[in-house]
Amino acid sequence: MLKKFDDASHKIKNEKLVFDEGTHADHKNFLEEEKTITEIDEHLRGGLSLEGVDISSSVMRLNSAPPPETFTLVPLENSNLSIRTEKYKGSSKDIIFVHLHRSEPIALDVARKIGNMLQINVVTLMDPSMPHNSDRYGTLMHRKIAYAYDPNKVFTLEGCMQTLNMRNSNYKFLDKSVREEIAQDLLEKGKMIAAQFMEKGTIIAVHNTENQTIADFKGLGMEVNIGERKGFGDSFFVVTERADYDVLKSAGYNVVLQKLSDKDDGSLSYLCSIYGQRYINIDSSSDPRINASLAEVALNVLAGRRPDASPGK
Ligand SMILES: [Zn+2]
Repeated sequence: MLKKFDDASHKIKNEKLVFDEGTHADHKNFLEEEKTITEIDEHLRGGLSLEGVDISSSVMRLNSAPPPETFTLVPLENSNLSIRTEKYKGSSKDIIFVHLHRSEPIALDVARKIGNMLQINVVTLMDPSMPHNSDRYGTLMHRKIAYAYDPNKVFTLEGCMQTLNMRNSNYKFLDKSVREEIAQDLLEKGKMIAAQFMEKGTIIAVHNTENQTIADFKGLGMEVNIGERKGFGDSFFVVTERADYDVLKSAGYNVVLQKLSDKDDGSLSYLCSIYGQRYINIDSSSDPRINASLAEVALNVLAGRRPDASPGK
């Protein structure tokens, strides 16, 4: 029996700010890339058909990510981070790119480019007062003390307590009631982030990091496939559905199956396993070409195509 996601959006409504960024964006770059985008559009009429579209090559041809048509910015109270939801060209497919780590800009850039091509919304976390800050961690203020947290560990209470404990040497010395109060506050942030995309579509979470490999998941006793496929380095997928796992496994990719019986680490993949939400996580190296290729594989899987389908292959 699947739980329904406890939608925290009622808390968000009054704080939601809507901007139209389409008018003051970098139009020069945008026009330069317009031809490429139009070419792609013609292939894409009628839904998520990737036929004839070589996404990874198209991504590499774009110098910069075109601006979204609109975006919303939802501040997380007592935290430096805000949730930015970017809408591309008004129409949205039932797929959402989610980017949680500011230290992984390659993954965001690739998601934005593909988001623009295929009208897929992108949710990202940012610090509006320091938009170029590239810390992996966010901070939460509690009684004038700042606590660091990993934004991909805030989706369960257990995960919040773990990340606060791991990132803040003073946390474990606090009274139990204070520790719980801070963790509850952090969980509220996690709920607000998740309310942007849970039950609104299939999630493709995008990461580019060099410090985690599939072997780490094996070490945790999770079900993993270490694939034969070359050229992707230590990149891997994390999925919540067995069928997606099987398809990626049979195509030779590194893939982890996140299950409810795995250890609760408060990650988005664990949250999706709780709610039975279809989810594909891309964990790529910092090479944008690999990042784009993995995103293309994920989109092919979601479109029910062979993972490595692409024109001419
Ligand atoms: Zn990450």
